Amino acid sequence: MSRTLFVSDLHLDPERPAITALFLALLGREAGAAAAVYILGDLFEAWIGDDDDSPPGPEVCAAIRQCTAAGTPVYLMHGNRDFLLGRTFAEQSGCTLLEEPARIDLYGTPALLMHGDMLCTDDTEYLQFRAQVRSAAWQQEMLARPLDERRTLAREMRAASRAQNSGKPESIMDVNPAAVDEVMRQYATRLLIHGHTHRPAIHEFLLDGKPARRIVLGDWYEQGSVLVCTPRGCSLQGPAAVPA
Ligand code: MN
Repeated sequence: MSRTLFVSDLHLDPERPAITALFLALLGREAGAAAAVYILGDLFEAWIGDDDDSPPGPEVCAAIRQCTAAGTPVYLMHGNRDFLLGRTFAEQSGCTLLEEPARIDLYGTPALLMHGDMLCTDDTEYLQFRAQVRSAAWQQEMLARPLDERRTLAREMRAASRAQNSGKPESIMDVNPAAVDEVMRQYATRLLIHGHTHRPAIHEFLLDGKPARRIVLGDWYEQGSVLVCTPRGCSLQGPAAVPA
């Protein structure tokens, strides 16, 4: 049966090669088999520009290329770590960059795809930061700097983000229910799929009196996490359980 896979928050990093290997194995298995693979942000722990060829960028790019060349389209959305991932990576890997939010047809059901950080509207400090780093002017200025300077800046920004987040209550860093309702209404959908919060779950709730679902993808810090959807429905699972 046709299947469509969703992953997010892999945070691929040279320090965790086993997780990269797990993802490459997943792509290898799904190449030519899955109907599509959607990566909903934070594929990489950090991304300082498509001109950086340090690991694991090139091998991940090659694995996505194998998948797309075998006829399984790979769609990629930016997260709050890899927002500098650009057209060059997309061209080299054959993946399609998705604007956020993206509304797709999932076996006859309209589904809305997001990374999820935009839904954390209680974290106003973060949203200000997001607006800055997502602006074309900021990105152009950043990408014009030499690679080693960008590497240092990225390290500093991650450290600053960790320091800021450690003082925030857990609730602030989760999605705001009103923001969820609003975006689902705006895009006329009853199914929202996102990552970012690292709180994998399938939430069933009522939106304007009718059943709605919000599926939260899990992170890959210690294991894989995949949402597999078929015409019969969706289930959250680890990659080992994905049918071969
Ligand atoms: Mn994220």
